[in-house]
Amino acid sequence: MSLSGKTAIVTGSNSGIGLGVAWELARAGADVVLNSFTNSPEDYALAAQIAQETGVEARYIQADMSNGDDCRALIEKAGSCDILVNNAGIQHVAPIDEFPVDKWNAIIAINLNSAFHTTAAALPMMRKAGWGRIVNIASAHGLTASPYKAAYVSAKHGIVGMTKTVALETAQEPITCNAICPGYVLTPLVEAQIPDTMKEYNMSREDVIKNVMLERQPSKQFATVEQLGGTAVFLCSAAAEQITGTTISVDGGWTAL
Ligand code: NAD
Repeated sequence: MSLSGKTAIVTGSNSGIGLGVAWELARAGADVVLNSFTNSPEDYALAAQIAQETGVEARYIQADMSNGDDCRALIEKAGSCDILVNNAGIQHVAPIDEFPVDKWNAIIAINLNSAFHTTAAALPMMRKAGWGRIVNIASAHGLTASPYKAAYVSAKHGIVGMTKTVALETAQEPITCNAICPGYVLTPLVEAQIPDTMKEYNMSREDVIKNVMLERQPSKQFATVEQLGGTAVFLCSAAAEQITGTTISVDGGWTAL
């Protein structure tokens, strides 16, 4: 399948799942726009590497997804947007009565509000082009909850709701909007949770991975960024034209429990 001639913008894509999704979209022929809030030589080098190895056009555009104006500016600066992957996300773990207000606000802004702003800015471009795909990277936590993740679970349930709403608003157009719900993927976001969990449960790294993280993932394996990228490519394929307003779990069976 070729996505040649399409431009894909992936928010939060200088690492982890976003970077993996950008690679798979580029391998499928799409020009890609990488994004994060940083402005380092490594960010631009990632785009250059994708361009060199896949032959597509790849750019890096700095924009802070916690800021609505920046979200909209990202889409405007890209100039066109056939595929929008709302992926940027952060995590913070604390009981709700101790949850820092700034962390709550940042998680809701980056994990939920950013998708509102980018979608609003991208839809007119998709309508003009006569084709569009919106892929929201939600989470198993968009469908189920875990203690101490109030902001994250709220934002991810919110993005699943937004996915359905956007799908209904575009149902009679050649545009689809879906959410991918990953289980645990070993990215920097998950790595960062390991030390605290080791302390909390007085466990080794291996035991935290096996008995805490993958405890809810029946396959007992992490999902990979390549698998998530492949799922995003599938949602952009002709076979997925009538798939809209739904969630696809890539969670080793977590939500079947
Ligand atoms: P990650 O930390 O590797 O990547 C997060 C990305 O978001 C990075 O590129 C980071 O630079 C970017 N980002 C953070 N704040 C930003 C901001 N203000 N503006 C722009 N970009 C910003 O984490 P990841 O695991 O790859 O997470 C990516 C997405 O996948 C998130 O939405 C996360 O909730 C979701 N997810 C991850 C897992 C997992 O197990 N790793 C599971 C389910 C869902």
